[in-house]
Amino acid sequence: MSEKTPEAIWSECLSEARTVLPPSTFDAWLTDSAFDSQEGDAFTVRFSNMFKARWAKDHYGELLQGALRDAAGRPELTLVCTGPPAPPPEAARPHASQTAPAYGDVRMTYLHPSYTFERFVAGPSNELAYAGARAVAMDPGKHSHNPFFIYGGVGLGKTHLIQAIAHEIRRADPGKVFWYVSSEQFTQLVVSMIRNGSTMDFRRQYRDVDILLMDDVQFLAGKETTVNEFFHRFNELYQRGSQIVLTSDHAPAEIEGLEERLISRFQSGLVVDIRPPEYETRLAILELKARESEGFIPPEVLQYIATSIRSNVRQLEGAVHRLTATSRLKRLPIDLELARSVLADTLGASVRAPSLGQIAAAVAESFGISPAQLRGQHRRREILVPRQAAMLLMRELTNTPLSEIGDFFSGRDHSTVLNSIERIGKLSADDPALKRRIAEIRSKFTS
Ligand code: ADP
Ligand code: MG
Repeated sequence: MSEKTPEAIWSECLSEARTVLPPSTFDAWLTDSAFDSQEGDAFTVRFSNMFKARWAKDHYGELLQGALRDAAGRPELTLVCTGPPAPPPEAARPHASQTAPAYGDVRMTYLHPSYTFERFVAGPSNELAYAGARAVAMDPGKHSHNPFFIYGGVGLGKTHLIQAIAHEIRRADPGKVFWYVSSEQFTQLVVSMIRNGSTMDFRRQYRDVDILLMDDVQFLAGKETTVNEFFHRFNELYQRGSQIVLTSDHAPAEIEGLEERLISRFQSGLVVDIRPPEYETRLAILELKARESEGFIPPEVLQYIATSIRSNVRQLEGAVHRLTATSRLKRLPIDLELARSVLADTLGASVRAPSLGQIAAAVAESFGISPAQLRGQHRRREILVPRQAAMLLMRELTNTPLSEIGDFFSGRDHSTVLNSIERIGKLSADDPALKRRIAEIRSKFTS
């Protein structure tokens, strides 16, 4: 068997990605990637900056990983995406930074060209976040929405919205100074600031920012020096009247390990959540993505996808990409049959929201009671707690309205369900074992 060079393997992966992704996406994120090194099972690919690397991994990781395994014929290979090489240690001596502004590029971090308001579908699940983002973009720095904090689960449009704000403000006022940064990039900046001994440079760079946008602030938790630095930059900018926009996977008070002083800062402006889209919004998003992918997808196929994939917009988008790519590669028309096989083959069972019955069964099993007890009327603690946990998980994992969840539990009404969900939330916050157990059950359906 002739050995392919790693460069050739990566080039095959790129060809594969090119057939699957829309050209604009491919050009924006993947064209300038190149094979870097291979060590053991780690196959490392380099991107022109860390942001792109992270993005590619987050959004196209699954696709690239699959292509890599196929191209190399080695299922154990793992794709690692990395940014440009770090400067050699000599260059990082104190005072070396006097000439080169080490941070400038980050302030101008690339915005995804299609993450605009025009390409965001608003619906009941996200309209508060959407309206808030619009208001911020129209009138940045206004007290009532500063800071603006968006939280919600993975793949629901937080990054899209935060970047839409940046696009819009930039369009309206190109003179504004932006600082768009993920909390991980910010942590990196603080680390290199400390290493370079360039605290003052760093602070000067970020003093005149008009809009600070930080994605995924939850990753700041537990990093004391970074949090401290962020806290000061935050206060400085806030006092200056700069707009601050933040996203996170949880509400401020629910970010584990986040300091109280930050929580209260985050809560002091406008806090909005994004929930998984309901059916109509999913369908509207699919219609938009189908138009953008330039392939015609019949309505019944879009409806089928909208009913099958319920919790995550990124997966909806992935389904459209795969479907159009498969149809192109195999020269098959896009119909229900193809959609079924593509969804079943490539996304697996995990994309389908579990049924209420499946969740009930998993919860009952984990707590050692019967599903009938779970649905019944007993209010003994050994049964009540699992019942509340089941309601919580049903709400989280499926998009079922509270009243329907109530029906499932022998006709309880929606306020009872809401109460139960709140109670179990509080209970598990004080009880790590319970919290872990719920997380375990959840992971059965999400991994
Ligand atoms: P998050 O940051 O919340 O994990 P993203 O903003 O990265 O999610 O969204 C995942 C993908 O889904 C992106 O490609 C985004 O454009 C798309 N998306 C999410 N919500 C919407 C929406 N309401 N309308 C259109 N596209 C959306
Ligand atoms: Mg995001």
